[in-house]
Amino acid sequence: MKIKKIVLSILAIAIIAVAIALIANGTINNKDNGKKKVVVTNFASYDFARQIIGDTQNVEVIFLMGPGKDAHSYEPTAQDITTMENADVLIYIGGEMENWTDKVLDSLENKDKINMICIADDIETIEEKEIDDAEIEDEEEEEGAFDEHIWTSPANAIQMVKVIEEAIEKIDESNKEIYQKNAEEYIAQINEIDNKIQDIVNNRVRDRLLFADKMPMQYFIDYYGLEVSAAFSGCSTETEPSPKTIMDLENRVKQENIPVILYIELNNGKVAETIANDTETKTMQIQTLHNVTKKDFDNGETWVSLMERNLPVLKAALQ
Ligand SMILES: [Zn+2]
Repeated sequence: MKIKKIVLSILAIAIIAVAIALIANGTINNKDNGKKKVVVTNFASYDFARQIIGDTQNVEVIFLMGPGKDAHSYEPTAQDITTMENADVLIYIGGEMENWTDKVLDSLENKDKINMICIADDIETIEEKEIDDAEIEDEEEEEGAFDEHIWTSPANAIQMVKVIEEAIEKIDESNKEIYQKNAEEYIAQINEIDNKIQDIVNNRVRDRLLFADKMPMQYFIDYYGLEVSAAFSGCSTETEPSPKTIMDLENRVKQENIPVILYIELNNGKVAETIANDTETKTMQIQTLHNVTKKDFDNGETWVSLMERNLPVLKAALQ
């Protein structure tokens, strides 16, 4: 009898150990951890939800596409569909950038039980603009298409925090006050960084930022009353601008004595280097928060910390 008990105990321990290992490994989907799920498509939404949730334990946020990927070429996998179907709240941006949402969201099982929020609906969106010096695109932009890069202005970021906070408190009333407090504290941090950027903008000697790259910061540019040149309007899938575009950008740099050639995260900066070499200027990387690198993601970088990284860049570029 005694031996049988010992064997059973060892078996029980072994089963628990295997289960823990599988969960840790991600083999068992954690959908039954009892937490309410907020699934988001975009890094800024992910960060805002994470800040609002803070140390509370009833809600978790899942960043659907994950770090290091181009939001424009992302398509959900079968696993991602399951993740969305298990969501209590699903926050997306939509537009051309997330045009997969048109079909996929409507086909989700349990779709009526998911609070689906197109967060751009709560933002005063702008239409995609033609950008100075930018490559003429082969592909015609859809007439009246809105610019999806809403998260780049502090005003929009604050609005996003508010919308996400309201959605989270609805699925977990028990921590309502904590969520509200966390949201307020994060909004204060966004305001603080906004003031620091505003200081730099107020002391600028030029209005123009020059991107040897895509330019997903129109809301930021408009918010601070700046001007912009770029290799591409919006987010082209192309990475090599034509020699004419490079020449136009170089002429702009020379005419306006632009000191810094910008390129964005997840770009190798080669085009910027070419222009910087030809014009005896320097390159700097600017964080647009379109997505983050795996490294920044693993380091827990946030909307605020990445904008903070932009301060010396903006200072140098606007001098
Ligand atoms: Zn984009």
